[in-house]
Amino acid sequence: MNNEQLKKSLVKNNQPAYRVPQIQKAIFQTGISNFMEISTISKELREFLVRELDILSFSVKKIVIAKDGFSVKALLELRDGLAIETVLLSAGTGKWSVCVSSQVGCALNCQFCATGKNGLRRNLIAEEISDQVLFWRQYLKKKRGADKISNIVYMGMGEPFLNWTEVKKSLKDLTDNDLFAFGSRSISVSTVGIAEGIILLAKEFPQVNLALSLHFATDEKRNKYMPVNNKYSLNNLKKTLQNYFLKTNRQVFIEYIMLAGINDGEMDAYELAKYLKSIGKRQLLHINLIKYNQTERGFESTSGNKVQIFKKYLENNGLSVSVRKSLGQEVFGACGQLAGK
Ligand code: SF4
Repeated sequence: MNNEQLKKSLVKNNQPAYRVPQIQKAIFQTGISNFMEISTISKELREFLVRELDILSFSVKKIVIAKDGFSVKALLELRDGLAIETVLLSAGTGKWSVCVSSQVGCALNCQFCATGKNGLRRNLIAEEISDQVLFWRQYLKKKRGADKISNIVYMGMGEPFLNWTEVKKSLKDLTDNDLFAFGSRSISVSTVGIAEGIILLAKEFPQVNLALSLHFATDEKRNKYMPVNNKYSLNNLKKTLQNYFLKTNRQVFIEYIMLAGINDGEMDAYELAKYLKSIGKRQLLHINLIKYNQTERGFESTSGNKVQIFKKYLENNGLSVSVRKSLGQEVFGACGQLAGK
């Protein structure tokens, strides 16, 4: 929903200023799906808004729900016909996480990622990003009554820091108390390590969480599987994180996808521990080991036992580690699996 257009439409209709927050609240916080549901305004105004504005900037093409009902993926068709995906996940607690896309496709071509395979089509505009959250708010209102969105992660299709202008606008809307009213700490931005973006996040949204998709701890391997490393090397990343800590003193989540025979050996654990310890501020790093979700890109996931050995090694080196439960696998909505189909 474009908030500026909403305001202009209300001015055009000679509405008093107090109408704006009334309608904003109904759309962004209550999660109505149709202007006709707003009972606090006149029928004439509701009909005018229906004629003037779309609440969502896309149409929903497909919704896939996992058997347990706690992973849901939506395929969305944008106004220009391109498609993106967004995911809603829960551990069954009544609280849900929304994973949003920030680009249609991705230019960075990480070798294990389904999104990166077909390149970048275009950046999303802010409205298309925050509307993914709005859509899931509407969905939960209809399907699950009192359930709430408690977290938003920029971890869907695309690299958020390569679309910073629009991502920044969407972050402003999501944290605006008159609009979505999410706390900054309930939002995370995940990056493969775009240094300029990390510094901008620290400066402009120091309370928004940062997640770094590291996945490899030597330049040799990272260059091979994540071409972006040729520009933003591990040494560059280390300096950027040190700078980030200086500015925010906030925890960073290190994401590490476990790929069988590629980055899950003893030597890989050694290199990872060595690299992370060399950054300093070990207490501000938390490593998430993630079981790889199979895509058509041909990698295999590390076995559960081996993941535990890897975890133990890192813990013995004084690092804080979790094995992240891979929610969303059944609907192909987990990290690195969104391909817009
Ligand atoms: S992992 Fe992220 S940055 Fe890499 S290709 Fe996929 S979407 Fe792009």
